[in-house]
Amino acid sequence: MNPDLPSTTRNVFTPTVGIVGGGQLARMMVQAAGRLGVEVHVLARVTDESVRGIWPAVHDGDPADPSVLEEFSRRCDVLTFDHENVDPELVDALVRVGRVARPGASALRFCDKAAQRTALATLGFVVPPFALATTVAEAEAFARLHGGWPLVAKTPRGGYDGKGVRWVDGAEQALVALALAGGSPLLLEPALAIERELAVLVARRPDGGHVVYPIVETFQRDGICCSMVAPAEIEPALACEASSIAVAIADLVDMVGVLAVEFFVVDGALVVNELAPRPHNSGHFTIEGCVTSQFENHLRAVLDWPLGATTLVASAVATVNVLGTSDGADLLAGVPHALAIDDVHVHLYGKTARPGRKLGHVTALAADTATALERASRAAHALRRGAVRADDTRVVS
Ligand code: ADP
Repeated sequence: MNPDLPSTTRNVFTPTVGIVGGGQLARMMVQAAGRLGVEVHVLARVTDESVRGIWPAVHDGDPADPSVLEEFSRRCDVLTFDHENVDPELVDALVRVGRVARPGASALRFCDKAAQRTALATLGFVVPPFALATTVAEAEAFARLHGGWPLVAKTPRGGYDGKGVRWVDGAEQALVALALAGGSPLLLEPALAIERELAVLVARRPDGGHVVYPIVETFQRDGICCSMVAPAEIEPALACEASSIAVAIADLVDMVGVLAVEFFVVDGALVVNELAPRPHNSGHFTIEGCVTSQFENHLRAVLDWPLGATTLVASAVATVNVLGTSDGADLLAGVPHALAIDDVHVHLYGKTARPGRKLGHVTALAADTATALERASRAAHALRRGAVRADDTRVVS
């Protein structure tokens, strides 16, 4: 137990987990912690809405501020993260004075896309062809080498949901992308002919013990993941290879907690796109779709507790993300409409609606993938339609 806590506020039977960041991943970790009776503190910016109105102790503060993070870490037995935009050096400094951070700096350092690509390529993992560029001449040279324009340009840090990813079709657009990067290098890749996108989630304990979830196939629109199905309908050999690569990467970065590894399938072969050292959007299907959710296994892993089974509880599971629409509709009003559909589970993140913002997701279980996806899509649609027609009390079916 953390000795800095006054004894009256300390639960002597359970450890305290401190989550750095207050987005929807923190919200769902808190929900899993509640079932286990684990006490949670969250360090959240005042603008982080998802952890307000639910039960954890929320500490307002900027996780990027070393003194705020240090003060927060004193309250917790183990620190974990809702997002990876935390300076690994700060985390290292806390570990040096005896705090426990899981994952640690080795995994967090790997979140820089450029460092990640370079390290994985050096170690023999298959990644997209890439280069770092700060000038248009470098971008032109890369395009010449790799089949011409367009290229895909990525900011190495801080991007998510396609933000920070830009298609660049020619020297003029390269100039704009470089100007937006403000002098920092951009990661360039050829525009790949991607056949499928897959993700593998591994939950790993400090001693390396781990479990792997069934492979999930993700579908994107405008660079944002919009839906996913599990198990991915792929050859068993490809599934096996993807799982082994994900476990090897989890070992390499000494991951503790859930690690998501995203793959492209190009010409039938796996290419590692990126990794995230935390529960991941592609794993939301595990909440109702697996014996143990990614959020519970993340907590178990960071507490060094036994991990739970990752077996699917239905033949097929599909999740559809619900994004804010331009009319700013309040999705709460649509919930009864979505729940009228069989075997559907609705999650709203408590966020103010803004166009394109991830506000929630819907998961459906079924006997086959097509039915699961159809139900989840229909429920997501009903959620949005019901919200728009909030004064209409009929249930949409
Ligand atoms: P983020 O970290 O924002 O999710 P990603 O690097 O995963 O960014 O890119 C987002 C999406 O953009 C991918 O899921 C994929 O659909 C598309 N994409 C990324 N890189 C390439 C590429 N080199 N070629 C074609 N599409 C790409």
